Amino acid sequence: MTLPSIDTVVTFPSGALEGTATILHIENLDGGKRAVLLDSTPCHPVDLAWPDQPADAAELRTESGTTSVLDCVVGATDGQSLHIGADVPVRKGAEGWAFVAAHIVDGSLPLVEGQAITISVNGEFRAALSAGHTGCHLASLALNAEVAGLWKKDVPLDSAGNPNFDAQAIDRSLITENGSLDEYRLGKSLRRKGFDTEALLGKLAETQEGINRTLATWVAAGSRVHVEAPAPDLSARRLWVADLPDGTVSIPCGGTHLSSLSELSSINVALTATVDGGTPVVRMTTRCVVVQ
Ligand SMILES: [Zn+2]
Repeated sequence: MTLPSIDTVVTFPSGALEGTATILHIENLDGGKRAVLLDSTPCHPVDLAWPDQPADAAELRTESGTTSVLDCVVGATDGQSLHIGADVPVRKGAEGWAFVAAHIVDGSLPLVEGQAITISVNGEFRAALSAGHTGCHLASLALNAEVAGLWKKDVPLDSAGNPNFDAQAIDRSLITENGSLDEYRLGKSLRRKGFDTEALLGKLAETQEGINRTLATWVAAGSRVHVEAPAPDLSARRLWVADLPDGTVSIPCGGTHLSSLSELSSINVALTATVDGGTPVVRMTTRCVVVQ
């Protein structure tokens, strides 16, 4: 059967865990694995450009049985061939390309194109990643606010109106279960942009305390959180939105999130400094505690 000409419809941004879909295409991969493309899915795939949130754990179910989704990655097709993950040669949203969630499965369950299928996402793992991702965004905004006074030049602001240290310095971000790990490089280019790296390194403990005070206030307010999607297709530009006590904030985001901060009893960060090839690196480890 031909490859899809439009994006996979995704339902994970609104928190969906279950879905029924039609198999549009099955591609055989190395090692007896297959990539299954569906018309719609609740399963969150790993992003191409910014792979911060891991794939959901999920199962595909037909009348003849169930198979585990071994991985779920973003793929792209120009109608001629399917490229998966790191092999995708274009940026998400590129003209003439359809972006798809590729559900990677083994060969144990017979599947055919055109068949109806049920997708079930593991809710516990999803909830833990959603908590971690929401915590990650809030911690980055609290960090931006805390170091706002260390800029000597103008840089683009975050949605709360603070210089966006996170966007300028982030090197790596990994969402984990109920937490995240963010690495910021305090190199020459950041200094050239006017950031006082020495000052931050000199008051890490104080900065950490300030961030944690801010996060405690936000969690206590139990603010509403949601993901805004202009369209249901995978490559639509989605926005994480939180109605914090001082105003509504947002960050472009392809991941999944909590629906309210009342689901958490705390968010805490720890800041540590290391050096990588002569460049100072600040690590922010964020931990969320979920209300039982
Ligand atoms: Zn995000």
